[in-house]
Amino acid sequence: MCGIAGAWFPEEIRETKINPAFLVTLMLAGEQHRGHDGAGIVTSKQGEKDFGKFKGVGLVFDVLTLDRMQRIYGDTAIGHVRYSTTGEIDIDNIQPFTSVIGDGANMERLTLCHNGNLTSELKGLRPTDSDSWEILHNFDGVNSHISLNARIYQALKNVRGAFSLGMLHKSADGETSMICVRDPHGIRPLWLARYRFGFGKRKIGYLFASETCAFEMLSSYIEVLGLESEHRVEILRPVRAGEIVIINHDGLQSFKPQVWRNQERKFCIFEVIYYMNPESIVETGDWKKNPIYAWEIQEALGRKLAEENPGLTADFVTAVPDSANHHTLGFSRASSVLFELGILRKHTAGRTFIAPYRLAKMLNGKDLDERILKIMRKLSFVVKKFQQAEKVLVIDDSLVRSNTFKCIIKMIRRIKQSLKIIGGICSPPIKFPCFYGIATPTKKELGWNRYNGLDGLCESISVDMLTYLTLAGLLSVAHQLTGYGEDDWCAACFDGHYPVPIEREEQKNELK
Ligand code: SF4
Ligand code: MG
Repeated sequence: MCGIAGAWFPEEIRETKINPAFLVTLMLAGEQHRGHDGAGIVTSKQGEKDFGKFKGVGLVFDVLTLDRMQRIYGDTAIGHVRYSTTGEIDIDNIQPFTSVIGDGANMERLTLCHNGNLTSELKGLRPTDSDSWEILHNFDGVNSHISLNARIYQALKNVRGAFSLGMLHKSADGETSMICVRDPHGIRPLWLARYRFGFGKRKIGYLFASETCAFEMLSSYIEVLGLESEHRVEILRPVRAGEIVIINHDGLQSFKPQVWRNQERKFCIFEVIYYMNPESIVETGDWKKNPIYAWEIQEALGRKLAEENPGLTADFVTAVPDSANHHTLGFSRASSVLFELGILRKHTAGRTFIAPYRLAKMLNGKDLDERILKIMRKLSFVVKKFQQAEKVLVIDDSLVRSNTFKCIIKMIRRIKQSLKIIGGICSPPIKFPCFYGIATPTKKELGWNRYNGLDGLCESISVDMLTYLTLAGLLSVAHQLTGYGEDDWCAACFDGHYPVPIEREEQKNELK
């Protein structure tokens, strides 16, 4: 899982107070929810031959400090926030990744950040275990005398899976192009914006980001600095599925390779259930006139859960914060069950990088339940509300392994053993792993499979009743709000219908 962002500017940006690398930093901070383990940035100054780079483990503002951004100033920059899919946080896997093509006077430079995961066999040698190197190394075998867009297509034509890409290409004479590419099914999001700056004759720069909330972050910054008369961000449009966008001194050019045209749209439905910032716009045919935000879909999912469970009552309904807040509000409004803040998220949550197992070790190495520690670190419970209730409903957006939910119920039971607890999940059971960039476990590690379905899961997490939203309910909400029907989404983790074949052996093994 990760978030990407980039900014391309003509040299005139140097006459303003704006540092493009800092704009990218701000956009990455706006996308921090997409990955909080590490952040990286690559900058490029028109005419200079090499890139500026910085990356590190930690949150965006801790890694990409103002001081560091000043030292690697560039007119153009791309960056990445990473969420580790494996236990250890490895700095080598933090992007952007950079490589060179050719040598001597003909040397070109390329840097890449990738959101998504590939499902085709990986062939080339990779310095780290990240599949994104495959894309970068494919450029080595491509004829460098054809146009840049044709080279990009040649490098990607045999790559399958989910890829929303941001790249910088530096030609041998130092001219920089910013490139965006989205896989032909458009599985992961990617958006473009225009940045107008300067008095009188306005100049134009371009931005890309995984989510529109990143652009909102910039608009707020411009307003706070009182620079609205000189600087403005306008959301342009999503990068289309199967589209290659090249931005340089010739402006914004769009290419759509023939074989990538008219492929089925398969946007990840889990993005809108859980992953996206609630304030981000969801890609629809009509997004400009009638924007639909992720929170609207989340609220509607909660309403749908209420509709599918008429007569479900409780003294109050509470959310697993923060990701299920909107879902729970929706449920409450549609069912008239009182919404209470029974579980609170601590303000400092997510600001420590002491992994739970290290914390357990620090507490004298005893065999402490890591997950309980993780929840203690993150959440607190409004004890009196649970003590005074007889029956409560706890809502989450989804259940993956089910470990966190199980621990939350355990903590509530500690407050009042006799309490009746109902679990409500605003998505269908997750039965299959994701191979397109969301870090879900193997098939047998998923809660639903591990406990053999609803009854086993109910018993394992110790709730009196557990109810899930149906797949039909999820798809009907998505259709109603976005206009996209059931065939327009990837819902493989719910129904097992993978829109892009899973070819890699290690991935096939996860399906067993
Ligand atoms: Fe999204 Fe699930 Fe499809 Fe992965 S498998 S892309 S999480 S809907
Ligand atoms: Mg959650």
